[in-house]
Parts: sequence; structure tokens; C-alpha cells
Amino acid sequence: KLEFQAKKVMVFGWARSGKAAAQRLLDLGATVTVVNQSAFPKDAEYDKLQAAGVTFIENDAADNLDDSFDYLVKNPGINYDHALIKKAESLNIPILTEVAVALSTFTGRLITVTGSNGKTTTVSLLSEMLKADGVKVTTAGNIGTPVCEVVGNLTSEDTLLLELSSFQLLGIPFIQPDIAVVTNIFSNHLDYHKTRENYVAAKFRITKNQTADQYLVLNADGADTPSFAAKTKAQVREFSRTQEGNYAQVRQQSLWVSDEAIMPLSAIKLVGPQNLENIMAATSAAMLAGVSTKAMVEVLKTFGGVKHRLQYLFEKDGVKYYNDSKATDIEATQAALNSFDQPTIWLAGGLDRGDDVMRLIPNLKHVKAVVAFGQTQQKIVALARACHKPVITAIDVKRAVPIALKLAEPGDVVLLSPAAASWDQYDNFEVRGQEFIDTLEAELAQKG
Ligand code: ADP
Repeated sequence: KLEFQAKKVMVFGWARSGKAAAQRLLDLGATVTVVNQSAFPKDAEYDKLQAAGVTFIENDAADNLDDSFDYLVKNPGINYDHALIKKAESLNIPILTEVAVALSTFTGRLITVTGSNGKTTTVSLLSEMLKADGVKVTTAGNIGTPVCEVVGNLTSEDTLLLELSSFQLLGIPFIQPDIAVVTNIFSNHLDYHKTRENYVAAKFRITKNQTADQYLVLNADGADTPSFAAKTKAQVREFSRTQEGNYAQVRQQSLWVSDEAIMPLSAIKLVGPQNLENIMAATSAAMLAGVSTKAMVEVLKTFGGVKHRLQYLFEKDGVKYYNDSKATDIEATQAALNSFDQPTIWLAGGLDRGDDVMRLIPNLKHVKAVVAFGQTQQKIVALARACHKPVITAIDVKRAVPIALKLAEPGDVVLLSPAAASWDQYDNFEVRGQEFIDTLEAELAQKG
């Protein structure tokens, strides 16, 4: 158990989670120093924490840290290569993320979701199902709200539902969820984790400390599922979109969980095979948490998806528009392209992480034309040529939209699914997706 009373803690990174961690650490009686790569914005939060005795250091040099510190709490995005992190390692100072600070005092029911893709969609579904069943649930973590912001108000009566990234998990020495869900594991983020083994090991932390009265929900179709199932002490419940006989399954075109027919697939609002997997993950966890079938059905009938995740925008002149800006890896875009059998005008490109876009060749079957932008533009052009698809380049999403609109005919789908992160041109995938939506609306309004 981590203990912060009268401890000296360095918080590295002044984003929303760093601020929340600093405040929570003060509440827990720690002495706090905050370090940041660049200058601190002198805003109300800064003033408040400074008045409360926090020390601020405006550079991230390794020699800011010495062995008088008990813990280092780092922003999950900061790489372990960083000199300050290496210094902490050499001094044997535990390196934590904000979630570990938050969990140190939480005594209620804990449900966690991790995985390469589908985390946010699964967490959103599950959160809605718990709420529809009258459970007092708080949702936080990688989905947006730092756990430190909410944990102070929770008691042992509360359910805490967390979305956790592998980056966050690496900084949580001890976590013991009552129900843990792993949606799937793909080879993404290898720029950070270096090897797939490291990445899988980071994900395994979600279940490492679980005991026999707790549950681990796994995707039976996933490559790493057998190793997780073999190593965990928790009770394993598997779901599969393709094979019958699992805890969650498709039987006679209906969704079944724990030998109960939940509802026909045709009555579920969310589209796409990937979302069926997320639905199975969410309903499995909901069933294990005691949620009624009625509450599950209510949510599945109405839940239309999360913004920027294969988000259906609108139909105009017979053309349907989808925003999948969150597709920052090859697998997400594979899933998106596989979701349509209409002729698709596909907009793609972004930060080059060295991914092999040629893995998309089998998924371009229904693609009618490609508009490529950003750093991976030339890779996308090569992919389109390899598939004998027309391809046009544009600087960014804003310039790509009018090109796509010229190509679109009634019956087509226009899909932004970049297969790459946004950081070559945008602050984040939300900004990229919003640019797509705003430009579409402006251009379509002009056309009348
Ligand atoms: P995460 O929170 O893990 O990033 P999201 O639910 O935000 O997951 O979805 C991220 C991207 O991955 C979106 O483009 C979405 O359409 C796609 N996606 C969602 N679920 C899956 C899945 N089970 N398999 C493959 N791709 C998926």
C-alpha cells in the first residue's frame, strides 16, 4: 500500500493529471514539488497550489531530483528514457502515475478497462449500463478525468470505473480490480514500449494482483488471451464474436451473455464488428457486476457511439459521413473500413510512427478513392497505388474535405479514418476530427 502522509513527492508534468495529483498529494499530507519541461502558466491553479506550499521548478533537469524524495509521479506520456526518470530509477525512487496516488485511498468496488482499442467505447457503454441500473458509478482515467480529481469524494459504497492505458499501468505498482477487462492487444505504441513483450507485460499488470473471487474479461479471439488466462488467479470470462460457447457470444443472430439471450443484434444501435466486440466486453463486465438485462438492453438500443470513434455525422444528398479521427493505428482503420460495404471515399494520413500501412491492403475492397494528407501521405499514396485505387493528396484535413466532396456520389460513404496519430499537424485527434466536421458543414452549406 502506498502512503503519502509526510512524504516528499515530485510531480513531473503540469498537465491536468499533474495538477490533480499535486492537489491530491497535498490533501494526503505530502510535501510536493512540481517539475515541468517549460514555464508554468501563472493561472489560478498555480496560485492556489503555490499558496498551499507547493514548490515549482521550471526545468526538467535530472539534478532536480535527489534521494530526499520518496516518490516521483510522472505524466503517463513521458518516456522512461527521460533523464529525470532514469535518475529516479538509479536512486530506487518508485515511479508512479497519478492513478496510483488516487487508488491508494480507494476502498469501493473497482472496475477497470484496458486494451489497445475500444477502451473508451467499452467504458462508456459500461458506465451507461451501470447508471441505467441505478449503480452509483464514477468514471475516470484515460477517458478524460484524472482519477485524483474525483477520488476524494468516494466512499466504500461507490463503484469506480477506470479506463487505463498501458502508459498509466506502468506507473501503478499495485492494482487489484474486482472486474478487469482487456478489450484486445495489438502491436501499437511500440515507439514507447520498444518491444511487444514489454507492451503485453504492461497490460498484464491489470490482473497481476487479482484473486480468485475477482474477474478478468478477455477477448477469446485475441492473440495474447491464452497467456493472460493461464497466468491470472482471477476467474476468466471470455467473449468472442466468431466462436460460440464463450461467456458472451453470438447465437442465432442474438447477443448472449452467461447463457442468457440479451437481445437480437439487429436491435443494437452501434455499428461495426469492432463495436460488437466492445459490446461483448461491456455486457460481460456488466453481467458480472450484477447489472440487469433490462438496463443493458436499454443502453444498447440507444447508445450511438462516442465522438470521433467511427462517429456517424449525417447524410446529405445520399452520402453518409463518418468521423473516425480516433483511428490512430492500423487496426482501428481496418475495423472502420471493414464496417462498410458501400463505395467509400477514404481520408487518411498523419504522424509517421513507422507502421506498415500495406497491412491495409485487404481492407480497401470497397474504397472508391483515397485522399491522403499529413506525414504518412506518401505511404498512403503507395498503398492506394498497390490497390489500383485513385488517390489525391492534400496538405491537411481542411484541404482534403473539398476534394472528397467533389468525388462523392449518392450511395457513397465519406470516411475520415487516418490510421495515424494527429500530432504531426494537430494538437490531438479531437481537434483533427472537429476540423473535419467544421469543414464538411461549411462546404456543404456553401453547396446548398
Ligand atoms: P481506445 O479508448 O482504446 O483508444 P476507442 O473506443 O476510443 O478506443 O476507439 C479508438 C479507435 O479504435 C476508433 O477508431 C474505433 O473505431 C476503433 N476501435 C474501437 N474498438 C475497436 C476494436 N475492438 N477493434 C479495433 N478497433 C476498434
